[in-house]
Amino acid sequence: MVVGSVMKSVIDWELTPQLFEEQLDLMIEQASFFGKVLPLPIPISNANTSQLILGLLSRVDCSGCDSACCKAGSEEIAMLPEEYEDLKAKYPEVMKDIILEKDHVSVPCPLLKDGRCQVYPDRPMVCLVFPIQFGAVIGGPSGTDLENAFALSSLCPAAKRLTREIYLYRYQMRRRLKRLKIIH
Ligand code: SF4
Ligand code: SF4
Repeated sequence: MVVGSVMKSVIDWELTPQLFEEQLDLMIEQASFFGKVLPLPIPISNANTSQLILGLLSRVDCSGCDSACCKAGSEEIAMLPEEYEDLKAKYPEVMKDIILEKDHVSVPCPLLKDGRCQVYPDRPMVCLVFPIQFGAVIGGPSGTDLENAFALSSLCPAAKRLTREIYLYRYQMRRRLKRLKIIH
């Protein structure tokens, strides 16, 4: 559960379908390469946050992934002292050698065993909402309408697939609305 660094993304929605897909693939590749988050075209100010988080999480398909989120990255896994205390009380055996360093545990997560989270039903908040991240800024090609946006972690394969789907859906919807003269 690595918290990605801020990613500023300017998307050109006026490109042809092929160029738009190329732009999208490049954005995803660069975010992944540089360990940045994947900004979504969903401004935080416009969203019903909890519904959106639930909707996004319900679309995360972990099949074929070997718990990359619990192992990868150079940063730590955030765990609040209250979460740590609750886990210690409920899972004393599992937690007996786990050290909380201020507000995090190390990576790979020491709670992962044989590819499974030993405290899954009570995993920390950062794990509950993964791969959703915050700290992205997105806007149009002019750069004049930059807004804080939802984002996904680029280390998560499911997040990359989902990011692609969301952008392509939005792009196709935009084209349709323009064709129907509903937007300009
Ligand atoms: S990295 Fe993404 S796809 Fe892999 S286990 Fe974690 S949430 Fe699922
Ligand atoms: S607490 Fe569980 S879900 Fe969270 S990083 Fe550790 S092993 Fe993965």
